[in-house]
Amino acid sequence: MSVSSALPEHSIRSTRSERILVLTSLLLVIAILSIVAFLLVRERANAQLSATRAATNIVQLIEADVLRNVELYDLSLQGLIAASRRDDLKTVSPIIRHLALFDRATAAPYKGDILLLDPHGDVIADSASVEPRKGNFADREYFQVHINNPDPAMFISRPFRTRLAEHEWRISFSRRVSGTQGEFLGVAEAAMRLSYFDQLFSSLTIGPNSSVNLISKDGILLAQEPRLAEELVGKDFSSRPNFQRIVKEGDGSFTGISSLTQDKRLYTFSKVGNLPLIVIVALSSDEVFASWKRTALVVSLATLALCISLLWLTWLLCRELRLRHSAERELAQLAATDALTGVANRRTLDQTLRHEWFRAQRSGLPLSLLMIDADHFKAFNDRHGHLAGDDALCSLTKVISTSVRRPGDLVARYGGEEFSVILPETDSAGARQIAEAIRVAVEQLPLVPGAEMPMTVSIGISTWTSASETNLERLLFAADKALYQAKEGGRNRVVAAS
Ligand code: GH3
Ligand code: MG
Ligand code: MG
Repeated sequence: MSVSSALPEHSIRSTRSERILVLTSLLLVIAILSIVAFLLVRERANAQLSATRAATNIVQLIEADVLRNVELYDLSLQGLIAASRRDDLKTVSPIIRHLALFDRATAAPYKGDILLLDPHGDVIADSASVEPRKGNFADREYFQVHINNPDPAMFISRPFRTRLAEHEWRISFSRRVSGTQGEFLGVAEAAMRLSYFDQLFSSLTIGPNSSVNLISKDGILLAQEPRLAEELVGKDFSSRPNFQRIVKEGDGSFTGISSLTQDKRLYTFSKVGNLPLIVIVALSSDEVFASWKRTALVVSLATLALCISLLWLTWLLCRELRLRHSAERELAQLAATDALTGVANRRTLDQTLRHEWFRAQRSGLPLSLLMIDADHFKAFNDRHGHLAGDDALCSLTKVISTSVRRPGDLVARYGGEEFSVILPETDSAGARQIAEAIRVAVEQLPLVPGAEMPMTVSIGISTWTSASETNLERLLFAADKALYQAKEGGRNRVVAAS
């Protein structure tokens, strides 16, 4: 049995505590990363939520404003129809009649002209002038709708361009003028200039890469703020996937890639009342998440630094632990071995002997003990000097160690020029064989220069068997006694205790 293998506790403890340390810090790192990732993901969702909320507010504001204006247009139309039915107005001067007809038609901002058409589509009253313009609008969609439909409700046209100004988009609101029998008497029509939306949108603050858009149900872009490009207004977007999705969903929001700019946008949209119009707030994803991105970068870097520091500290601690444990191991080894010869010292001998004694008691297998003492060693020292004596003790140790081969055997320096060998599971005959081998091998060691006689040893053996009634002290004493007998008997011999 080697001295170091008698101390396995240390190495086991060292690797276990290291493993726990590494595992704990890895779990810590994973926990930190998970928490930070969770918070960042939640923060991102919050940023998106508040952007969507702000966009929804804008959309709702626009919708409310538009609906209020449509109501004003409708009031104008109703006022015009009511006034046109009064017989007393037919006798007054054209100026008074004009005033009365368009009495309620002042409130709507950016209004286009309000016209009263006769059953043939000719203009019979015009809000723009007392003398109505010459014109026939019988071909217009709204006119055809009202001829064929007695429903008195307001009709809202699709957005159209005016005949005069190509780029000017309008929507018309119209109501049927019906006689007492429900017969068709004409149409009252008002037009809203969509440039009204430019004015409305320009009052909104929105990021430079984001936009508020008014688009017709048919996909025609009618107004945009800020303008991404001048020529976009009037363009048909009906085939774009984002627009198709918006039409399908009606109200809501989603994130999509802009077909114009190819960047990511957060679209929030709503139909404007029952008008054929859709308001879309398209927020640039970069703008929505700009602040979050900055935070995420700082937090990620800080977390990374924290985790790296943690792992680095763990590594340092592990290294420190390993150093400490190897120092402890060395110390333990030093405490257990003899400095000169490197074999087990007296302390280890006592421990091991007690251990083997109890093991033998349990197993009932024999236990043998050799006591080896160098003959006339005082004389050797006196003759060759103390250093040569030390060398001789080392050679002696080597001879004893090579003669003892079983893993459970232990060679120890008992003290001075005296050695002990513990031989577990070895009976008296086996012990004698080993002792004899040692004695012969020592005798055959090469002569020290200047010496006439070879070095010799005397060996005492004692053996415990299950038949013998003895204790550990008596076993030791018996080995000592056998050694004494070997000395008495002339030295360079082996004596087994009886
Ligand atoms: P015996 O045959 O009766 O054993 O005679 P001995 O001279 O060997 O016995 P004794 O006990 O009288 O002397 C032991 C000597 O061993 C004393 C000392 O000089 C020597 N000795 C003990 N330890 C050491 C050591 O560590 N190094 C050296 N060089 N000599 C030692
Ligand atoms: Mg001696
Ligand atoms: Mg001695």
